[in-house]
Amino acid sequence: MFDINFYMNTHQIKKDLENGSKIDKKELFDLLDSYRHKDPIIYNIETTNACNMRCKMCPRTTMMTRDI
Ligand code: SF4
Repeated sequence: MFDINFYMNTHQIKKDLENGSKIDKKELFDLLDSYRHKDPIIYNIETTNACNMRCKMCPRTTMMTRDI
């Protein structure tokens, strides 16, 4: 899920930067942060971390260090 309001509000900034406008990195960060929604827009809900499989592409198989 994307924060469509963020993309709409920052579209002009993106266009200006693409057209060569210069802006201080800190100022740009603060500006973008001001448009960012303060609540999370993505929620990952893990109902369980138990699984009998060990699929190679799964982060659970390769990276998870928590107890099952
Ligand atoms: S992808 Fe991960 S969670 Fe899904 S079956 Fe494979 S090891 Fe289990």
